[in-house]
Amino acid sequence: MAKWAYERGLQQVGPGAYAYLQPDGSWGWSNAGLIADGDQSLLVDTLFQLSLTEQMLATMADAVPAARSIDTLVNTHADADHIFGNQLVKSAHIVASQAAAGEFLKVTPEDYGRIFENWQELGAGARYIHDCLGNEGFQFNDIVLTQPHETFVKEKRLKVGDKNVVLTAVGPAHTSGDVLVHAVEDRVVYTGDLLFSGAHPVLWEGSLEGWVAACDHILSLDIDVVVPGHGPLTDKTRVAEFRAYLLWFRDEVRKRFEAGLAIEETALEIVELPDLPEWNTPERIIGAVNFLYRKYGSPQATSNFLEIFGLFDRFLAKRAARTVKHDACNHGH
Ligand SMILES: [Zn+2]
Repeated sequence: MAKWAYERGLQQVGPGAYAYLQPDGSWGWSNAGLIADGDQSLLVDTLFQLSLTEQMLATMADAVPAARSIDTLVNTHADADHIFGNQLVKSAHIVASQAAAGEFLKVTPEDYGRIFENWQELGAGARYIHDCLGNEGFQFNDIVLTQPHETFVKEKRLKVGDKNVVLTAVGPAHTSGDVLVHAVEDRVVYTGDLLFSGAHPVLWEGSLEGWVAACDHILSLDIDVVVPGHGPLTDKTRVAEFRAYLLWFRDEVRKRFEAGLAIEETALEIVELPDLPEWNTPERIIGAVNFLYRKYGSPQATSNFLEIFGLFDRFLAKRAARTVKHDACNHGH
């Protein structure tokens, strides 16, 4: 979308609403948001690293006086790249959905640290993580996982100054606990990882049908701007495209499951289909195929975090063997 720049840093997206973007949006490079009015402020998500979160908070405090002391922090879900900086937002009351709060300890900073240190012994999945994240200089030593102070089940309405903010728990979708943050007067919605703008979605838990319903919820809102969890700013057009993609993808996978194709065969066929959008990180397709096969009861499918990353690694190797172009981890070469 040419309307907005995809540049690192803070961008105003509504009268008192901001997005903090981290190109290129691949693994670990998430977006965050800020809603402010008068002397009050609400932060949407922290980042994967303390240093990145620190830099973001300083940028926000410089640009928006109300952000010098953040009143509320909403975590859209419990993935590491949206919560690992929580400890730095000392002034904030932290809110998440009840389902997300239950997932905060699923993969801890210590787990990431172990994978990064021992990746050579942990097989293909750890190698993929190391190749995609290890080269970015990420480190997890000083992170103290900081959990929500308050949770809600379906919906929570709050005020930032005079403005209305509506939090809606729409999971299970990308995860069990996904929350949409709607800045009503600013006409902006922050989707967390319910939208990967320009990239294939990470679908390995949650629910595809729930994700479609979450898209319907976004499409029902009166908004101008959609701030995705990763990738460039967009609007409802991309959400509608993504919703159609999910249904198309489900049908393509189901056909091949019923025809008896293995997970890898299905993924390798789908990635070659002419209807496939030209999004980055296509290896995520095999994770999503694995997820649907698991739902269909296939004994081939895995629910193990490192094994799923292992599928990505093998899928890239297979594709590289077939085609010359190899865009591992979506970093431009
Ligand atoms: Zn994310």
